[in-house]
Amino acid sequence: MTLSDYRTALVTGASSGIGAATVAALSRRGLRVHALARRIDRLERLADSTGCAIHRLDVRETAALHQLVGSIKPDILVNNAGLGRAFGSLATAEIDDIERTLDTNVTAAVHAIRAALPAMIDRADGHIVNIGSMAGLHAIPAALYGASKGAIHMLSTDLRLELEGTGVRVTEICPGRVSTGFYDVAIDDTELSAMAKDSGVDEVTSDDIADAIVYALEAPWRVNVNRIELQPTEQTYGGSQFVPKGLR
Ligand code: NDP
Repeated sequence: MTLSDYRTALVTGASSGIGAATVAALSRRGLRVHALARRIDRLERLADSTGCAIHRLDVRETAALHQLVGSIKPDILVNNAGLGRAFGSLATAEIDDIERTLDTNVTAAVHAIRAALPAMIDRADGHIVNIGSMAGLHAIPAALYGASKGAIHMLSTDLRLELEGTGVRVTEICPGRVSTGFYDVAIDDTELSAMAKDSGVDEVTSDDIADAIVYALEAPWRVNVNRIELQPTEQTYGGSQFVPKGLR
């Protein structure tokens, strides 16, 4: 089974950015797409433009998430809801920043997968797409966010082993900088948020990421696209720094 055979998709974090673009891309391909997020006004606009079904839900409401995913029984689950509170400074992170980031990026993704898998395994097909990050694969100075996306990396990798022989495919998408509302949510101070947002480079777009997701879903059934890592041509990682003690 591949994209043309699938009927139903569920996208978490669908009210903006990568999630909204993914809902639009899958809707254009004729799937019944369920879009989940908290901002209902944005979901309603997305429903008007794409015809998707909408669900106002905080993914940290675990029982409600299990109930919803279990009732939809999606062929495709796109675990996209996520944020990067306290981005770049674990030393000053509030308790709520830590809990929101880990609960949204990691715990909710695990629960959504747990709720979706039984029906996928019964049908012997299905596709789980986890939105990780470049920060889950490479060192960046954002420890809390990196830890959450590193968890998504191993979740995706280990899940493929657990699911051997079931027919269920697992893909991890690892973007670098994508032009979305991410920094509006990550950083409260509007000046700092604007500075973080202004990369000055030609950033990857949400539609570019949606295209990558569709590529993985459209691959012939015999092909599992394990991971796609994509970032702006003008962004890179690695290298080495020397920072004298006391500079910060
Ligand atoms: P956006 O801020 O534009 O989108 C985040 C989405 O997640 C929104 O739809 C938001 O909806 C939803 N969301 C957040 N918290 C919850 C919650 N508790 N319950 C339900 N939905 C929630 O950012 P992006 O599109 O960039 O982010 C999408 C994913 O991409 C995230 O996992 C992010 O970590 C990842 N990513 C982003 C990169 C970037 O540079 N932008 C790079 C690498 C990865 P609402 O607030 O309405 O609930």
